[in-house]
Amino acid sequence: MLVLPVLALAIPQIGWNTRTVRAALADEAKAPHIETAVLDGLPRHPNPDLCLAQDCGHCHEWGTVVTPDGHHELCPACQSRAGGDFAPHVCDETVGRAAAHP
Ligand SMILES: [Zn+2]
Repeated sequence: MLVLPVLALAIPQIGWNTRTVRAALADEAKAPHIETAVLDGLPRHPNPDLCLAQDCGHCHEWGTVVTPDGHHELCPACQSRAGGDFAPHVCDETVGRAAAHP
């Protein structure tokens, strides 16, 4: 009975909270102490190109591997062409397969 009024009041508040938290996190990621930590060697998670990871048996199409010493790294078998920066694009089947199986 009170579902619709609760939803009508909650949905705009959820949107406002989401925008506020996202903006705060984006501002904090640009803070000088964060940049310093990254320059000092704080590990960042790898951004694999999943197009290149297609049919890769080494990483099972994940694009990343966990090394024996516990580091999370790009798959050396299929991600050698990846630059490491996130660049969204549309997968090209021929490019991905050609890179995974040269
Ligand atoms: Zn791989």
